[in-house]
Amino acid sequence: MRELNTFGRYLKKRFKTRVYKIPVSVVGFTCPNIDGKVARGGCVYCENESFSPNLANNRSKFTLSLDSLQNPLLDLQLEELDRQYEETKKHFLRNYGIKRYIIYFQSFSNTYAPLETLKKLYERALGKKDVVGISIGTRADCVNDEIFKHLKELSKKKEIWIEFGVQSTNDEVLQKTNRGETYKEIKKSIIRAKEYGLNVCVHMIFGLPKETPQMMLEGIREISTLGVDSIKFHPCYVVKNTILANDYMVKKYEPLSEDEYIKTLVEAIKILPPDIKIQRVAAGISNDTLLAPKWCGDDKNKQMKKIKKALLKEGLIY
Ligand code: SF4
Repeated sequence: MRELNTFGRYLKKRFKTRVYKIPVSVVGFTCPNIDGKVARGGCVYCENESFSPNLANNRSKFTLSLDSLQNPLLDLQLEELDRQYEETKKHFLRNYGIKRYIIYFQSFSNTYAPLETLKKLYERALGKKDVVGISIGTRADCVNDEIFKHLKELSKKKEIWIEFGVQSTNDEVLQKTNRGETYKEIKKSIIRAKEYGLNVCVHMIFGLPKETPQMMLEGIREISTLGVDSIKFHPCYVVKNTILANDYMVKKYEPLSEDEYIKTLVEAIKILPPDIKIQRVAAGISNDTLLAPKWCGDDKNKQMKKIKKALLKEGLIY
């Protein structure tokens, strides 16, 4: 039997206590795959303003990019960061007794803004008493040496993670998914981040259009060669108001079954170098925007039970 190096175990060992991630969504952030720099419409599975009038109404008309000369939203962003952090922190403390946190800049591309804005936001997050670090979700085309240098500086004092959405290493799949980038470009940014000594996490999606389980596992083999520190696995699911939803409705897209997903996931975990920290393996959608597959809307504990059982059969303890 081998105990897997889960992110939770890693954090507990490092900080001698349980540490939870607090996700925040910062108003004014977008992504070059939505704002027209690379493409419009975004990834086929992404619910964004292009498809969802409600989301558009809730967000600012002004959005940032790497080239923005000013940021009229900064005060609002900092306020929102504080509010979202405090709310979730209260919940984690009351329900699970958690006292240390990593603030996770989750929605859209959280390095897609001028460095001055990023500095202020990261500084505000890292200045909180119970925060041991930050994790920044982004795309490979939203980073540069200036940002890496700054993150390297921050890493000297706190736990800093950069999370790249990779999803697939197959260019045909990336194109079908409308990712607006090639694997070669993604790989270049990951390697650069590692050259700066940063903690890198990659997101991989299983079940993207036209990707077979064999191709998914090839992707895991490839990504394992890059020296990344952590990985998140997601099943591809269809939510309303996305391009994928249209394809699903006209039967042009069929999601993975739960059995197929778990089988591929177990094989993928067996491929990973043992020191890669596994951050996530199940779907986490609990609202009525989910169209398919239905099992992705199941209680996460139920999904985890099945995944743990399948891993255990292979001698792996999650
Ligand atoms: S990169 Fe992220 S935010 Fe941008 S379109 Fe794709 S899923 Fe949406």
